[in-house]
Amino acid sequence: MLLIACPYCGPRPELEFAYAGEAHIARPIDPMALSDEEWARFLYIRSNPRGRHAERWRHLNGCGRFFNACRDTVTDKIETTYPIGEAALNAQSKVSR
Ligand SMILES: [Zn+2]
Repeated sequence: MLLIACPYCGPRPELEFAYAGEAHIARPIDPMALSDEEWARFLYIRSNPRGRHAERWRHLNGCGRFFNACRDTVTDKIETTYPIGEAALNAQSKVSR
């Protein structure tokens, strides 16, 4: 069974966690100033990279807290986890294949 290291609880079985989308998506400061297209892009368009990816996860059946993880989408290996609010840890750089 795959273990995921919750930054608050330590390593736990993957069944305790839920994926919650791409990390580091900043909400626009003034949403009313956006066009419909810009708003739709904020809501629905994500990077979906091949390689390292910063993701938000939730320890749903544990402490319940959200955190970020850097996962390689090719190998499905989670390289690191870190609390919400910390920098992206170069997660956006892609693995070249
Ligand atoms: Zn936890």
